[in-house]
Amino acid sequence: MKIHEFQARELLDTAGIPVPKSTMVQSADAAEAAARALCDSGSKMVVVKAQVHAGGRGKAGFVRLVKSASEARVAAEFMLGNRMISAQTPPEGLEVSRLLVADAVEIAHEYYVAVLVDRARRTNTLIACAEGGVDIEKVAHERPDALIKLALDPLVGLQPFQARSVALALGFKGKAIGQAVHVFTKLCALQRSTDASLVEVNPLVLTPATAAHPDGQVLAIDAKFDFDDNALFRHPLIRAMKDPTEENPAELRAESFGLSYVALDGNIGCLVNGAGLAMSTMDIIKLHGGEPANFLDVGGSATEEAVTEAFRIILSDDRVQGVLVNIFGGIMQCDRIARAIVGAAKTIGFQVPLVVRLEGTNVAQARAILEAAREEIPTMQTATDLTDAASKIVAAVAVAV
Ligand code: GDP
Ligand code: MG
Repeated sequence: MKIHEFQARELLDTAGIPVPKSTMVQSADAAEAAARALCDSGSKMVVVKAQVHAGGRGKAGFVRLVKSASEARVAAEFMLGNRMISAQTPPEGLEVSRLLVADAVEIAHEYYVAVLVDRARRTNTLIACAEGGVDIEKVAHERPDALIKLALDPLVGLQPFQARSVALALGFKGKAIGQAVHVFTKLCALQRSTDASLVEVNPLVLTPATAAHPDGQVLAIDAKFDFDDNALFRHPLIRAMKDPTEENPAELRAESFGLSYVALDGNIGCLVNGAGLAMSTMDIIKLHGGEPANFLDVGGSATEEAVTEAFRIILSDDRVQGVLVNIFGGIMQCDRIARAIVGAAKTIGFQVPLVVRLEGTNVAQARAILEAAREEIPTMQTATDLTDAASKIVAAVAVAV
């Protein structure tokens, strides 16, 4: 699960990582008022930032530095009135309905720092780079050596000497070293305590020297979190941060019925039980030259109602030109799936080809149910095994297209 930058800043702030003052707003009026309040309390510059679950906002023109409340209003009107298109959004872009209005800081240097689960190393890993900012992807691609990667010990986490060596390697000087060490330490602890698969601060900035801060200040001015969905039950406050408007509506509907649904780009809808079977079903569809439209796992214990809902979700996707049902009945009983197919045929109707492969618990009853309903489901074919199922659905869709 992802969260917005304004929520990420709250988490950083609570963890004791310094972030500039900011307010989340949902209208140009409110943006103007928030900017005025900041200017009145001494901000010389204000930054208006679109709050969407995608990066690349700076390059897309959705992070704007302004000097007055009226300029903040203009920036806000632009962001709320246009879809944001960046390298990280779908081609049609994202609608912007929330903005962050923050005290803007002067920047002497931008750094990149992240803590993530490195699956290859099987550890949490701290990644840092002295060349942070909007071109970090380019740096990582062209000069991967510019990134410091530090595997964290699973028991003790980031050690003080490690934090200091990273701060020194990034070039921090004087009192800024201690500030950077503090940020790295808190960030690693936060990633662990929130079960985040990614915590990223880009940029972490060093401000120019002033009389009050002769070595500058180390501040987080952008942050991104990705949480492990399977651990959200342990974090009700984080789960409450979920923004349903940023999620795929079909995925949300599936979730409310206890189904796992992931939308993909192809045209063959797949209704499967178990993630492993879902993966192999997608593989075999591809092997036969087809493209899956989704990954829908009804799991072991879905009710007939939930399975009917699963068909409704698959069939409401215009791109679906055929449906493959591949069920291995272990805990899930095949007859429940068969009844849901018949129910879906009655209430929704299968206009597209349907191929059904069932095996396992109660398969004989299931076959009898489907056999009895053949006339009601004229586009249905049954398959004997995975290969047969994949070749039948790919052929049927090719004919239909
Ligand atoms: P992203 O492009 O979506 O990652 O958005 P960021 O919040 O990282 O902003 C992009 C860039 O805008 C940063 O790398 C900075 O160069 C610039 N920027 C953002 N906030 C400020 C600020 O408070 N002051 C200054 N001077 N620049 C900022
Ligand atoms: Mg950024």
